[in-house]
Amino acid sequence: LVSNKWKVKPTVIDLGDGVIIGEGHFAMMAGPCSIEGEEQIEKTIEHLKANNIRIMRGGVYKPRSSPYSFRGMGIDGLKTWYKAAREAGIKIITEVMQVSQIEEMYDYIDIYQVGARNTQNFNLLDELGRVDKAVLIKRGISGTIDELLYSAEYVFSAGNESLMLCERGIRTYERASRNTMDINAISILKEKTHLPVIADPSHGIGIRDHVEPVALASIMAGADGVIYETHEKPDEAFSDGQQTLNFAESARLIERMRKTYDLR
Ligand code: PEP
Ligand code: MN
Repeated sequence: LVSNKWKVKPTVIDLGDGVIIGEGHFAMMAGPCSIEGEEQIEKTIEHLKANNIRIMRGGVYKPRSSPYSFRGMGIDGLKTWYKAAREAGIKIITEVMQVSQIEEMYDYIDIYQVGARNTQNFNLLDELGRVDKAVLIKRGISGTIDELLYSAEYVFSAGNESLMLCERGIRTYERASRNTMDINAISILKEKTHLPVIADPSHGIGIRDHVEPVALASIMAGADGVIYETHEKPDEAFSDGQQTLNFAESARLIERMRKTYDLR
């Protein structure tokens, strides 16, 4: 069902208030890796508004490799974030890690993010298929393109067609970068599916100074949007600071992404 053979017309996702993803509407989603508190939320929203970005990312439930790392502010953090974002006209994308969080988060989010560690959590995908809110599925850490498409098939076939895919880098033998951003996947996914394809250059390469070129390359490869990490003080971020842009770097990226998208 997610194949271009089944549906020729590209899927367009309307989040309301003029925020549209897909086919001619380039989506930019930016924000911290983790939601850390009220001040950080306000500062980020201010930055996004100044640059006309309508979707903010941030995790309140974080899948951390170590259980001793910061694991997120949870639902209270999400509620605080929601209040500030609503007032500013900003949409929210955040990671949902388990079935019980779908309902818990429902009133406070616009897009459910399925993380790379949950791409094949089929129970979670089944349930997200029954929800009337947009879903972004990230490619698994060692997942193939076909596996990502089958994961999308779970959600789509259960009835939720507000679906997008995300290339976030895969694990390879290369150790010079955190992950290997598979630019190929973007072009191939655009050929295979009618769903919007989003690039995550932050996790894709994992090194701040290289986020911009990878983001721009993703756009030229056909991405319908980009999701990336930004923070007022990346070195003080609770997670993923090494790949997080400060606001000046983020503003420059936004400008260059808009120009690149126009070139395409
Ligand atoms: C994130 O977006 O912060 C995240 C944890 O991403 P991924 O699931 O791609 O690792
Ligand atoms: Mn992160």
